[in-house]
Amino acid sequence: MISQSLPVQLSIASPADIERTAGQLLAIRDRFRDTERTAPDALRPLILESWRRCQALHVDPLLRYAPAAIARDVQLRERWEANALLMQAAEPVMRYLADMLAESGYVVALADATGCILRLVGDRIVRRRLARIDFLPGGGWGEAQAGTNAIGTALTDGHPVQLMAAEHFCDGWQDLTCTAVPIHDALTRGVIGVLDVTGDYRLIRSPLVSLLAAAALEVENGLRPTPQVGPVNPRVTRLLRAEGTGPPLLLPGSVLEAKPSAVTCAETDAPDALVVTRLEDLQARDAVYLVAAGGAVGASLDVQATLEHVAEQAAHLLRLDRAAAGLFNLKQDHNAIYVWHRHKPPAIEREHTWEEILGHSRAVDLLQERGEPVIVEDAASSDLVSATLLDQLEIRSLMLLPLTGARGVAGFIVAPRRGASHWSIDDVRLGLTLAAQAATAIENARLFDSLQRHARRIEALNAIAALLSALQDPSRHLETIVDRIAEILGLSAGLVLLRDEAAGRLTLAAYRGLPASLIEELRAHPVPLQESYVMQTGESMLIRDAATDERILYEPFRRARLHEVMVVPLAAGGARLGILQVACGSDRTFTDDDLSLFTAIGQQLGLALENEQRARAARDVEALREADRLKSAFLAMISHDLRSPLTAIHASIEGLLDGESLQALPLQEQLLQNIAGQTARLGRLVDQVLDLSRIEAGVLPLDRDWVEVPSLIDDAVAAALGDDATRPVERHVPSTMPLLYVDYDRMFQVLFNLLENARKYAPPGSPIAVEAEHTSSAVLIGVADRGPGIPAAEHEAVFQHFYRLRGTAPAAPSGSGLGLAICRGIVEAHGGTIWVEDRPGGGSIFRFSLPLPESSPAEGGAAH
Ligand code: ADP
Repeated sequence: MISQSLPVQLSIASPADIERTAGQLLAIRDRFRDTERTAPDALRPLILESWRRCQALHVDPLLRYAPAAIARDVQLRERWEANALLMQAAEPVMRYLADMLAESGYVVALADATGCILRLVGDRIVRRRLARIDFLPGGGWGEAQAGTNAIGTALTDGHPVQLMAAEHFCDGWQDLTCTAVPIHDALTRGVIGVLDVTGDYRLIRSPLVSLLAAAALEVENGLRPTPQVGPVNPRVTRLLRAEGTGPPLLLPGSVLEAKPSAVTCAETDAPDALVVTRLEDLQARDAVYLVAAGGAVGASLDVQATLEHVAEQAAHLLRLDRAAAGLFNLKQDHNAIYVWHRHKPPAIEREHTWEEILGHSRAVDLLQERGEPVIVEDAASSDLVSATLLDQLEIRSLMLLPLTGARGVAGFIVAPRRGASHWSIDDVRLGLTLAAQAATAIENARLFDSLQRHARRIEALNAIAALLSALQDPSRHLETIVDRIAEILGLSAGLVLLRDEAAGRLTLAAYRGLPASLIEELRAHPVPLQESYVMQTGESMLIRDAATDERILYEPFRRARLHEVMVVPLAAGGARLGILQVACGSDRTFTDDDLSLFTAIGQQLGLALENEQRARAARDVEALREADRLKSAFLAMISHDLRSPLTAIHASIEGLLDGESLQALPLQEQLLQNIAGQTARLGRLVDQVLDLSRIEAGVLPLDRDWVEVPSLIDDAVAAALGDDATRPVERHVPSTMPLLYVDYDRMFQVLFNLLENARKYAPPGSPIAVEAEHTSSAVLIGVADRGPGIPAAEHEAVFQHFYRLRGTAPAAPSGSGLGLAICRGIVEAHGGTIWVEDRPGGGSIFRFSLPLPESSPAEGGAAH
């Protein structure tokens, strides 16, 4: 029964959806105002028509309010008098609506046939807000005054209308939803007023239309003269008395409430004349009940509750003592069938009996196949149902009505009678109309259900994302994470196995709620990678029966006897870092939705673990860099401090060797020479280290001057190779080369290092080539040898400090691995680049390019 405590749930789409729709509407409206055009399907024709009419009426869309149609109280009082009957009939209905919508941010308005508001009730705050735009008694809300609004449109159109946000043509209404239904004169059918419900557009709710339509019908009925019931057949009177009061009514204070209960023709044998009168009466009444029933079945967004309302309303509408409604293919969380009894609370066992009996009847199959109602007038003589089984439910005759939605027959309504009986066309028509409304309501409820599931999913993902982002190193808190996941999803067990690439297996990282025997097995015999379907394929899996599912290869999982299991990869990009596995207790089963949610959780955790790995690698790099910096600082200090004593030692030895006073023995002289040579070498090394530390610190001083390339090359060749008579040197240096503006000593050092390397690493006697060329902006110098060459993979590495080729044999020429690093430092300090190439025919070519200064020394620009 529909009662005053009818739950009003005022949102059907998500707020974001509604916001988006409102935004789109606004864009369409602005376009219409600018160009008077909209895309053909962008808008409901009804609204577009109204916008056009308002344009034609020169309504100013920028006005934030409608001009008050009535300025003085006395005028308003005149209107009230003129509409006294309408107001009187509407009063209880409006009060009822206001109570029902109390605290939901809605107001209820009654307007007369010109759109002038007569009465406004409901939420005081909303009323005060609306008063600022003249939405108050006396305000004129015909289209001609105010532009497109629900009252004006309902008046013009003559039908119920709901306008959302920017569907209103005038400003100031973008955040409101208005639902208006015209009230017709019972005799002339002309519109005599409008009932309207206005509130925040985020509370948009489709059943408001049918609720308001029913309310308008109530008002119309209130305006009707009370019907005169003719002489009543005694049998009918008896029946009416026996039935007590009629079906429940939508609105209190209704004129219908006083009427006697309905009786179908089949149940009376009243004289024809009376039946005709009664039928006429019934039809008007049925229409009202139908609207009321439509409102009632659409009142809830819960599938189960909707199903209950459908059964209840079917019983009321068809005047039965009970009725049932059922759905096909329901998920586990709903009963498949709901039975409503007028006198008893529904009994669960009985519902199961209904389910079983109907589930195996041909009648239900037929209904599902054809989507048409199936009527069994007498079960005893029908082969569509089993009379013996139906007997258990005390049913002899029944009508099955299909609940047909957008995706076919979703379920059915069962209208049963205890005795064999005839179902009139009116019964079928009424039943089918209710079934159509019920199907829509169920579809809405299912939609809402899926929206809610979606919301739950987002909530779960958010909760887990919040947890993961709060943990800096999730891999150390996997136990907590598994606990939290199990808690959020209401699961009994979970575990994380991480990939151990080197060992080719999955190792146990965290678990909860698992049998001790399985944990022992997992520890003693970790899962080999090839025994994990998920690691092999990257696909998530839902296992209903571990004993028979072929995807389970690891025996202990089979033996663990978990109820239902989901396993998903910890996926990060293309990589699989491991698996996440959960199981539920026997009180529930997993759905595909659960699996997709869980897969997303696996991805989240996978990404978090990968991020952690990256962060750790980044921290390692940072630590290396710091160590490097310390080393450089140390080298700079050491080399600087070594230099002075070395210079002193070197000078002393040179002094000894040159000294005429020293009558050195040959052996002593040889030793002194040795010391001098090694000291010189040590000095060079210290110089190199010092240079390098300056280069790295970016403080290599450059003493630039204009330098001729050919003489630089000659000097370097003479210094590096001058004492090697066996070494042929080829020079390819054009006679005209531009001058370089560089530090001569440093550039000499670069060339010297390269030439010396060529001499060191290329076989004795093999030729060394030095080449130079230039473009308009740079000079390119190369040193080529026929040595062993440098593997392409190490072309870059040889320029790092202390780097020596990997294959450098113990017998290879001695070196520090600093020469090329210094070359690169010097060249780059001059704005140039240096690299090595393979030389065609064998060997390597070290090349460097140096940018030419923008002006020449003659112009004197760059010299200082
Ligand atoms: P060093 O020669 O003191 O070891 P370098 O920085 O000058 O240091 O050279 C780095 C490494 O590059 C050398 O150890 C050597 O293995 C390789 N290398 C340098 N020049 C040549 C070359 N011309 N041919 C082959 N290998 C070379």
